[in-house]
This record gives sequence, structure tokens and C-alpha cells, in this order.
Amino acid sequence: MQRFQFVVVGGGIAGVTCVEQLASDFPSAEVGLITAASHIKAVANFKQVSQTLEEFDVEERPPSVLQEKYPNVTVFQSAVRSLQADQHTLQTEDGRSVGYEKLCICSGARPKLLTQDQPYVLGVRDTDSVQEFQKRLSSAKRIVVVGNGGIALELVFEVRGCEVVWAVKDKAIGNTFFDAGAAQFLIPSLEAQRPPRDAVCKRARYTTEQGPEGNSDGGPEGGLHTFTAGPYHTGHPTTLRGHLQLGVRVEYECEVQEIFTPSDPLRPQPEADYGAWPVYVRLTNGRTVGCDFIVSATGVVPNTDAFLQGNNFSLAEDGGLRVDDHMMTSERDVYAAGDVCSACWEPSALWQQMRLWTQARQMGWFAGRCMAADVLTQPIELDFCFELFAHITKFFNYKVVILGKFNAQGLGADHELLVRCTKGQEYVKVVLRGGKMVGAVLVGETDLEETFENLILNQMDLTPYKDELLNPNIDIEDYFD
Ligand code: FAD
Repeated sequence: MQRFQFVVVGGGIAGVTCVEQLASDFPSAEVGLITAASHIKAVANFKQVSQTLEEFDVEERPPSVLQEKYPNVTVFQSAVRSLQADQHTLQTEDGRSVGYEKLCICSGARPKLLTQDQPYVLGVRDTDSVQEFQKRLSSAKRIVVVGNGGIALELVFEVRGCEVVWAVKDKAIGNTFFDAGAAQFLIPSLEAQRPPRDAVCKRARYTTEQGPEGNSDGGPEGGLHTFTAGPYHTGHPTTLRGHLQLGVRVEYECEVQEIFTPSDPLRPQPEADYGAWPVYVRLTNGRTVGCDFIVSATGVVPNTDAFLQGNNFSLAEDGGLRVDDHMMTSERDVYAAGDVCSACWEPSALWQQMRLWTQARQMGWFAGRCMAADVLTQPIELDFCFELFAHITKFFNYKVVILGKFNAQGLGADHELLVRCTKGQEYVKVVLRGGKMVGAVLVGETDLEETFENLILNQMDLTPYKDELLNPNIDIEDYFD
């Protein structure tokens, strides 16, 4: 058996950041990284935009890069099969036994599939599944995307040359990240990049309210159908621009009731012709949509399976490993970070967990620091990055910054919203509670993120300034200087 002072499982952003933190803090300690994937994910071009906002690219790299940079790191490419937390040992799928003093589980999460073992349902999670998606998209005429989070948003916007029916369970698109107002602001972007439909082909005309009118059997007039998974895959440019893009039809407030194929003996009756498409989706709004395949983007399930048997991990409601404010699980000497864990400490009033790169990096880094502090028997406080939720991203080509309780999460009726919107340019929303700013959504080049971040952090009473706060003629930065 090979023994290490520190072992980290998972070569995603959380695991790699944790390994880097440990390897540089303890150059003389042996650090083992066990990861199922052939490549690791690394943070590149890191930029601290403001006190809490950070931006970086995610790059896939061969594991040797890590070993070259840190000679005390050993990477094993194999999946962990089992863990004996009481004995501090792990077994890998390729038959290895590994011992540890401190372990950090960073095994991420997998897409929550609508249904298992249905070849027409695809989850998108990594380079391999994106490639599979690309392959199937190249001959697809229509796909159904189910889900309303970041992946669905990105996917619907980026798919080219294929009709998309987008089923969302909420009243507005992008509910995970913003509100109906921001969604309304963004909707025209779904149309703007698309050529007029008549110019594309003689096909169905869709509205967001109605079903298809007229013929819907046409495919794109030649050309590839393309998709890029956004910044996630900056190392693997996959978009081929300039191809035709067909319409997106949004089906609001509905979920998938059932999925069936034309040959399915249990398919609902009577419906006209079930032969035209390989698979059909019956939605809870009563509509049935035929398509080439279905993309399931309805959230993720933490990858905990390999670690649970024989151990006493406390799990959160979402299936994640519960961690305290030292990223420690309920098992001794076992920490967890990133998508696999659920933050179960009493959070700051302005922070919430969301399974995003930024939090994977912050948690991996903080877990590494906590493991180090534990070894050195030093105290450590919860880091400042968990004080205020802050995320910067791009949706539909707009810069999007979300801060704090951006959707008035958990505030009930005890809040007030201020909104400023300039069509095609910017959307600004501020959430106030008791006159203090507790959240914001900034879409477009608003240049307000630092000022608003400060106003949220210092909890200044804004009651006297409320009317001027979003006045476009006032330089708000100067105002609060
Ligand atoms: P992961 O990156 O999932 O890494 C987990 C690692 O654990 C992998 O290397 C895996 O091989 C390994 N592993 C799993 N099980 C085992 C095992 N039993 N033994 C050994 N190794 C194991 N977030 C954003 O902020 N912005 C975005 O634009 C964005 N886009 C996304 C697009 C897609 C398609 C998806 C699926 C997610 C996206 N996310 C985005 C979310 C983001 O990718 C995750 O929050 C983040 O990658 C989580 O990092 P992690 O290190 O916890 O897990």
C-alpha cells in the first residue's frame, strides 16, 4: 500500500486547487491525487475583479503538468472504488490501495438525468459528453432542452442550425440566475442572432405562447449544427460560426411527464403520427413534442457513491456530503470541496452555495488551508470569500454579474426591488431590505459592480438615496466616494 500525508480525490477545479495549495504549503509532504479522468482541470488567467468577484478560464491539461510543477505530487489516473474511513484507506478501480492521513473528496457531480437507460436522453457534463452531443447535433433537426439553469441557458443560445424546444419549469427563463425582468431583457437575444425564419427554410413559426404552426418537418438547409460549451471549453474551441440557426420555442411552467418512442407499446393514445421523430416528450402542459434527442439539464447529483458504503457520512438533502466551516465532513480526517459537498455551516446573510467554478475553486483552496491548519494545530476562520455570494459570467453575449441575494432568496416579502433597463444595452436590479442593499443583478457593461459590492458589504442605509441610486445621470461611484 502506498501512503500519503494528503490524498485528494478528483482532478476538477476543486481537487486541483486543493492539491496545489497543499503541495506549495508543504513542499516536503507527499500529496496524492486520484482522479478518474485522463485530464485535470486547471485555473488559468485568474483575475481578482473586485473584493469578492473573480474571473478565470478553466483549462484541461495532462496530469504531468501538475507533477512537473510540484515534485511532491503523485497523480493516479483511476476511479476510487471504495473508502474505509476508519482505517484511512482507499481502493481504486485499477486495484491500488492508498493510505492517507488527511483526505479531501472533490469528486464533483453528474447531471441529474430525466430518466436512466434512455438512449435519446443526453446529459452534458464534460468534454466527452459535449463531443457526443456535438456528434448527435450534426444530424438533428430538432432537440428538446429541459432545464432552466446555466447549462440550459448557454446551450440554447449556442446551438446553431437546429430547432430547439426549451422546456422550463418556471415562469421565466434563467430563473436560477435572475428574475423575469432580466429574462425579458435577454429574450430578444435569442432571436437577434438568428436570421429571419423565412430566410432559413419553410418551417414552423413559433411563439413563446403557442405551439408550432404549419409544417415542422424541414431541417436546416445544409451545414453543420454546432455548439460550444462556452468558457468551460476554452481549450477546445468547437464553435463553427456562420451556419444557420433556427428558432427557439420556450415552453414555460412545464416539466417532462413522459418520454416515449414510436415503437413504445405504452405510448399515449390516440395521437396522430408518432413516426416522424425518433423520440417524443409529453410535457405537463399537455403538449407532445417530437425530436431527435433530449438534453437533460435539470441540475446535478453529487458523486458520492464510491465513498458511502461502510462509512458514516452525513448527507444533505441535495445528496452532497455535509461539510462544516472547516470543509470537514462527518468522518474524521475527511474533508470535501466543490460540487460533491453541501455547505452546512450557518452561512453569512449574503452568501449561498451554488455549484459553480468560482465556488469549486474557493472551496478547494480553503479545504487545503483547513487541512494544513489542522496538521499544524493552528486555528482558522471561515474565509472572506464566503461572506458575499459573487459571480461573474456571460449569458447571451452579455456580461452578467450577480451579487448576494440577487433573487431575493429567502427574503419573503421583506424586500424592495429597484430596476433600470435600457433595451439591448443593460438591465440593473437592486434588492433592498430595510433600506440596505442585499443583492444585485447587473446585465451588460454597467460598471456598477464594485460600487454595489461595497454598498452590500458595508450595509449602508440607502433610504435617503433610493431615488437616485439607479439614476443614469448620476455617477454613483462618485456619489458614494
Ligand atoms: P468536477 O469539475 O466535476 O471534477 C470532479 C472530478 O472528480 C473529475 O476529475 C472526475 O473525473 C473525478 N471523479 C469523480 N468520481 C471519482 C471517483 N470515484 N474517483 C476518482 N475521481 C473521481 N460553472 C461556472 O461557474 N460557469 C460555467 O460557465 C459553467 N458551465 C458549465 C457547463 C457544463 C456543461 C457543466 C456540466 C457545468 C458547468 N459549470 C459552470 C459548473 C462547474 O463546472 C462545476 O461547478 C465545477 O466544475 C465543479 O468542480 P469540481 O472540482 O467540484 O468537480
